[in-house]
Amino acid sequence: MTLYPLALRLEGRTVLVVGGGAVATRRVPALLDAGAHVVVVAPQLTPALQALASADRLRWEPRRFEPSDVDDAWLVQVAVDDPVAAAEVSEAAEERRVFCVRADDRTRATAWTPAVTRHGPVTVAVLGGGDPRRAMVVRDAIRDGLVDGTLESAAPLAPVAEATPGRVALVGSGPGDPELITVKGRRLLARADVVVADRLVPGLLLDELRPDVELVDASKIPYGPAKAQEEINRILVDRARAGHFVVRLKGGDPYVFGRGGEELIACAEAGVPVTVVPGVTSSIAAPAAAGIPVTHRGVAHEFTVVSGHVAPDNPLSLVDWSALARMRGTLVVLMGLKNLPAIAATLLTHGRPAATPAAVVQEGTTGAQRVLRSTLGDVVDEVAAAGIRPPAVVVFGNVVDALATTLPARRGDQT
Ligand code: SAH
Repeated sequence: MTLYPLALRLEGRTVLVVGGGAVATRRVPALLDAGAHVVVVAPQLTPALQALASADRLRWEPRRFEPSDVDDAWLVQVAVDDPVAAAEVSEAAEERRVFCVRADDRTRATAWTPAVTRHGPVTVAVLGGGDPRRAMVVRDAIRDGLVDGTLESAAPLAPVAEATPGRVALVGSGPGDPELITVKGRRLLARADVVVADRLVPGLLLDELRPDVELVDASKIPYGPAKAQEEINRILVDRARAGHFVVRLKGGDPYVFGRGGEELIACAEAGVPVTVVPGVTSSIAAPAAAGIPVTHRGVAHEFTVVSGHVAPDNPLSLVDWSALARMRGTLVVLMGLKNLPAIAATLLTHGRPAATPAAVVQEGTTGAQRVLRSTLGDVVDEVAAAGIRPPAVVVFGNVVDALATTLPARRGDQT
């Protein structure tokens, strides 16, 4: 059998979905995304579909199917298990010459749903000649090629809106594991002409760049920190003005102690358009990788992330450490190793108990991850004895032990 592929323009057109279970839950979002007017006929809906119905995103007819339901539809999706009920819908659709997709039995359907992947303006739809597994394997291979840019270097596609020349994207690279960058971040990185990267950016992401991409290592810029930031801002603006698409790749999330705001202001002042792509921040991901949830029901209902870069007794510190000491929830300190003795002493002085569980996660989410579990009272000595080095996050609070007995010890665990 030879198929004839088509793309349906469903904007404002009625699509009838019969059934309100798992299949409908999977199919309805893409129909809504295409702008279809979705009518679901089913005695019951899953909670996800119910939420869409309550939000008026779809119309729900809470009853059994009747053949006249097909009258207004351009397309019918059968999403019921019962073959007799499904056949009834198929027949009604056939009589009215409306295409009908069947989840239960594709041999009796008049239309098939392809495996799909979407990238900016490009939609790829793959049919496996009746073998959905095969279609998905091919689709996945194409998706990987689009994400890492290998497909596009062979046949350039129209630029996506956020990646046109003369723009800057501030992209969070995630905490260290190269797979923890967002899909959008990776897609933009694959299109960059110039990449300005931080020290904490996963090296493997840079390894994938095309040979013609200019890579600026921001950590190698001489001068002090203030001057270096000016220099980075200048490079972003200059390269964008020269007509390049510049990706500023920053560790974790660009706005969590990443100076992303300053770079955004510099670009905006120079009239260079900027896209910001958030990232997975180490303040949450490094504890998670060590088996520590930053919140846990009944244990901690708040978490606070602070910079330990400026010592608590320094008048320039903007952190109210005495208030943090009175807090009962989770405290996550970034850039806190150098000042850890002063930080721990301040928390103790202002009343946080010495027995408060503490953990230090070095190079979280990477192959070199190390975890030290301790207490507020002992952590300073134990960090020194274990030779923990930056980058590391320090976590204080009962969440440190919340899962400790449940999870098996992980690579790098010291206790
Ligand atoms: N924007 C980044 C943080 C930049 S400040 C983010 O959102 O993650 C740099 C500090 O982040 C380091 O000193 C360290 O405290 C922390 N950090 C970054 N990557 C880390 C990692 N893989 N493991 C532990 N801490 C990390």
